Amino acid sequence: MPAVVDLEKCNGCKGIEGKEKGTSSCVEDCSVECITLVEDDPSSAPQGREQHAVINQEECTDCETCIDVCEQEAISMLEEE
Ligand code: SF4
Ligand code: SF4
Repeated sequence: MPAVVDLEKCNGCKGIEGKEKGTSSCVEDCSVECITLVEDDPSSAPQGREQHAVINQEECTDCETCIDVCEQEAISMLEEE
């Protein structure tokens, strides 16, 4: 099953050195480039973030790399129903 981002936990890598807007740990480390960043309005977004990650589940290869690199522990594998 593909990986999924918990949108309450993802802070867009806010405050992590070298991860300014437009970059993030998960985006940099996904080998198939199936994670994209979507812009947020910091005044209304959770944790005042500027962006959040979205995973293309059709392209995700279930490698679990992004789970390990996310300091927010915001990514998990989607459980099969
Ligand atoms: S899911 Fe984790 S690694 Fe990816 S942008 Fe959000 S906080 Fe950063
Ligand atoms: S599990 Fe692997 S392929 Fe899927 S989004 Fe995470 S890093 Fe990318």
